[in-house]
Amino acid sequence: MAGHCRRLERDVAACATPAPAPQWAGIVKLTRRSDNALPPACADERTRGVQPPKDPPQPLPTAMQQDPSAPSLTPAAVLAPAEEATRALPIWLARDADFLREAPLSEAQKTWLTAQGFKGARLSHVLLPAADGRLAGVVLGIGIERGDPMERAELALGALAGLLPPALYRLADAVPNPALAAVAWGLGAYRFQRFRTATATAWGARLATPAGVDRQAALALIEGVWLGRDLINAPASALGPEELEDAVRRLAARHGAEVTSVVGDALLANNFPMLHAVGRASSRPPRMIELCWGRPGARRVSLVGKGICFDTGGLDIKPAAGMLLMKKDMGGAASALALGHMVMARGLDVRLRILVPAAENSIAGNAMRPGDVLMSRAGATVEIGNTDAEGRLVLADALTLADAEGPELLASFATLTGAARVALGPDLPPFFTDDEALAAALADAARTVCDPLWRMPLWRGYEARLDSTVADMSNVSEGPFAGSVIAALFLRRFVKRARRFVHLDIYGWRAGGKPSEPKGGEPQGARALFELLATGALS
Ligand SMILES: [Zn+2]
Repeated sequence: MAGHCRRLERDVAACATPAPAPQWAGIVKLTRRSDNALPPACADERTRGVQPPKDPPQPLPTAMQQDPSAPSLTPAAVLAPAEEATRALPIWLARDADFLREAPLSEAQKTWLTAQGFKGARLSHVLLPAADGRLAGVVLGIGIERGDPMERAELALGALAGLLPPALYRLADAVPNPALAAVAWGLGAYRFQRFRTATATAWGARLATPAGVDRQAALALIEGVWLGRDLINAPASALGPEELEDAVRRLAARHGAEVTSVVGDALLANNFPMLHAVGRASSRPPRMIELCWGRPGARRVSLVGKGICFDTGGLDIKPAAGMLLMKKDMGGAASALALGHMVMARGLDVRLRILVPAAENSIAGNAMRPGDVLMSRAGATVEIGNTDAEGRLVLADALTLADAEGPELLASFATLTGAARVALGPDLPPFFTDDEALAAALADAARTVCDPLWRMPLWRGYEARLDSTVADMSNVSEGPFAGSVIAALFLRRFVKRARRFVHLDIYGWRAGGKPSEPKGGEPQGARALFELLATGALS
């Protein structure tokens, strides 16, 4: 191979003499590996698989060429430094009509608000004119408290970010958590414009960072969430396992982290048999992607994120409605990477390890079948009760790898079960842990930063539901009940040495219509976990 072929996996096809592309995945024998040989964590050497047949050229663009002169929408562009507040337009917060009596506004402005029928209704807003007709400020209704934890005044600010005319604004009223207000503004300002052919939105509404708030800290959170949203919103045609690896490498390059990957049939040689089985029916080879960062010897924090770039359900194929959003089935990986960005950008003193088992759950002659028995990395056999319960299979191999070094904290993020949505709905992902201190601290952190999570039980009474008549376990239970609990119990079987383990069963998607939550991908749980790590609640 020529010396310039540094990126082996990419360049094999370009540099080698033309030869028929080998079939990279075939029938796989069930073998138990005793050596459990691994590429060491963050080894310098990459282990690469055999080059798969490439997809034919995509008729659709994987990214649009946008006008480079158009203002780019970035977190730093929407959240201005605090010093700029002196020339910013005030945003007043109004809970009810009483606001008019006490507000430090001119009589003309109060008359204007009355004429508009403004009574402080939640998320209503009115632009205030100055005497000369220029814009003088904004009044945002935050409404009467109804006990909804997501109706905080700070979050309401996110609704304005995408509505106000181009100008620099500042928060005129005190709020209990100004840092959350800054983050909410940034989260509400997000737009996914990668595939718009029209010129990108000329963004102009900026918020001066509220006094006393660390702008860089707020930006790290906003950037992390935007990164996660970008990854989830990207269609599967533009984000397969290889492109997900590219995204991990870009993130690593930004923070000086190391990345290794095991690709295609090399997954078998390196003992990731279930990840291989899930991804082998796709023309885009699966891979185990690993990012490492931080001081050796620091507290080890390991994140595992489900990276199913598209989930057809496999041979147990999903109906159209169930498949429509399946580009988001790598939402767990997006959450882990969003959290990773926050940790690295803020320089937390941890040894961070992120594992992303990435694959496309596709349908082909070599797809895994219902009733097949897989060997796992851990050495236990798993009967496939349903090929659509593939996430737990790739996670199990990744968890076994992550668990081997006994990290202080091991967290898995996954868009794992519809049952979690039936139980708690799309906005409140459940988390599962046996660790009482972790459960309390995480619930606390989730509340503080308004990234809601709710604990559900690892109820041992359901362990037997995973029994199989032919293998060590099944990947699903036969009945329809407690699906998210049983999925979590399945994952827990592959965690033995980590000091603390938590699993988040996220939706990874927002329906829209709420401030700070534009419709589309959402890396749920990332801000909550970051708060937990940053405050050192568990150290
Ligand atoms: Zn599935």
